[in-house]
Amino acid sequence: MIRFQAVTESVTDPLIVWRKWYADSSGTLRSIFKNVAWVPRQRVEAVCLKSSGILPEPRADNCGHAPDLKCSCGIYGCFSQEDVKAYGMVREKVWAQKASRIGNGPTPGLVMPSFVIVGRVSLWGRIVMHESGVRAQFAYPYDLAVVLPYLAEVEEAADHVSRRLRSMYAVDVQVIRA
Ligand SMILES: [Zn+2]
Repeated sequence: MIRFQAVTESVTDPLIVWRKWYADSSGTLRSIFKNVAWVPRQRVEAVCLKSSGILPEPRADNCGHAPDLKCSCGIYGCFSQEDVKAYGMVREKVWAQKASRIGNGPTPGLVMPSFVIVGRVSLWGRIVMHESGVRAQFAYPYDLAVVLPYLAEVEEAADHVSRRLRSMYAVDVQVIRA
């Protein structure tokens, strides 16, 4: 998402594009790279975390205008489902390796996702348009799929997570194979 194409203020008819999350142990959707929880039944509003931000608080030098044209902030979405599959792959492999080494026991300092979730997201508000996707001001999941397999023995757990996501976020959820 390097090449900038256009910015539009106040898009009220949501753009529906692809995205990836993970579900934490409570079933809450979380961004793959930022420490941002998507609270059920609330729109997510972009906050400038700058590129180093794993902290939920905005940095002092944040642009203050997420998604700003000249910044990298905003809620990301991809036009292509294929692109979204590749997004976060490196992080997923690290999770899988750590999980196979340590099992599922709690590990201090290590946040283990329970499932990778792909799906479509509604984006609106201020939108910065790029070649392969957009950065937006507001977001809510449109529909979701729990991706199998992340760990081997998870089919039943995936069904559980999908039911939970459906009731928490009030959107359609399916379970799919990676
Ligand atoms: Zn910013």
